[in-house]
Amino acid sequence: MQYETKVLTTTYQQPDPYGALSMPVYLTAAFEFPSAKAMSDAFCGRSLSPSYARISNPTVSFLEERVRQTTGAKSVTALNTGMAAITYALTAVSAAGLNIVASRHLFGNSVSLLRDTLGSLGVEPRFADFTNLEEVASLIDDKTCGLFFEIITNPQLFVADISALSALAHSRGVPLIADTTIVPFSVFHADKFGVDIEVVSSTKYISGGGTGLGGLLIDYGSYDWSAHPSPILQARTKRVGWRMAFTARIKTELVTNLGSLMTPQAAYMETLGLDTLDIRFRRQSETALWLAQQCRELPEITRVNYTGLADNNFYELSLQQFGPLPGAVFTIDLASQEAAWSFIDKLQVVRRATNLFDRKSLAIHPASTIFGLFTPEQRAEMSVGDATVRLSIGLEDAGDLLEDIKKALKP
Ligand SMILES: *Cc1c(COP(=O)(O)O)cnc(C)c1O
Repeated sequence: MQYETKVLTTTYQQPDPYGALSMPVYLTAAFEFPSAKAMSDAFCGRSLSPSYARISNPTVSFLEERVRQTTGAKSVTALNTGMAAITYALTAVSAAGLNIVASRHLFGNSVSLLRDTLGSLGVEPRFADFTNLEEVASLIDDKTCGLFFEIITNPQLFVADISALSALAHSRGVPLIADTTIVPFSVFHADKFGVDIEVVSSTKYISGGGTGLGGLLIDYGSYDWSAHPSPILQARTKRVGWRMAFTARIKTELVTNLGSLMTPQAAYMETLGLDTLDIRFRRQSETALWLAQQCRELPEITRVNYTGLADNNFYELSLQQFGPLPGAVFTIDLASQEAAWSFIDKLQVVRRATNLFDRKSLAIHPASTIFGLFTPEQRAEMSVGDATVRLSIGLEDAGDLLEDIKKALKP
């Protein structure tokens, strides 16, 4: 079955007493039991009954199960934000004294999480350009507990060769962890390219309307943790087997101790988002490709960066990994920062906001916002240009969007 069929036919773990066709939103902190025995079974994991909503909630479990069935993953954990999912994934593989080899071109908070938060707990971050395999290989040693990267970086739109990274990681006994927010699992099958752990900010494509925040942590059960440098994961492997060691640490240690399971309200909205994810992704990407092509004809635009354009440096790799429609985000370069700001100020259909893959088209100047507190040298190192505008294309009519862009480019 294809994505849309699978996602629409996923059934509840336990039937709803009224046969509700849409998963109800269970707004409750606690769950009641018929007997002390049933209570003990739930608390000790011998039954599927939820016990307390910090640990599980049927509305959240249903979202997790839908994603699990459509991705074929071993386990899925839904958290309150994309950053929570990244924090859980990187914390689960970490221990003081170990290091994580990560991409130099990451979402800003992921860089800070590695450098400042995990760094302060004794986990060393090592940054490399993930389009350069030799550089990545040179940083791996026997204390490396994970490789972490984004499948297409933002806003640079660099594409890593994921199968090659996976082969490198596995030849050195290291799990491959990918942030796949930019191309969702309806299109990109991370496990086929050797990704072991996938993290997604479901705030983006999956929520679909910018209705709330969320993060998904997907474990494919493909990595053998028995020889991993974390003593905790080695011990887990002895208890529950290598396929479940990571999931067991997430579900029984981090979810309960760090406490940021997704709320049932957000899980409900994201479940609705999953229904239309595939069709929205295709339509938004088609419009993005068409607009990127049209933007190249406009003299005020000095460069259009989209990996779906045939002369883009990453076109072949992007096509092979993500297909002909690699998402709804592209960037344009104008003459200067002033020109970029003036363009953004004049937009009337495209909105001035920071989200990605909303149903509405959005524009932002990354250098003065997301990267505004970095030094010019740091921005240069991360290839964030002063004259670059990032566009996230929504569901509006393509012709109307082009008109808006053309008008905003005029002095
Ligand atoms: C937005 C984003 C995040 C963070 O997600 P939140 O849901 O805002 O916490 C992480 N990675 C990428 C690539 C993102 O675009």
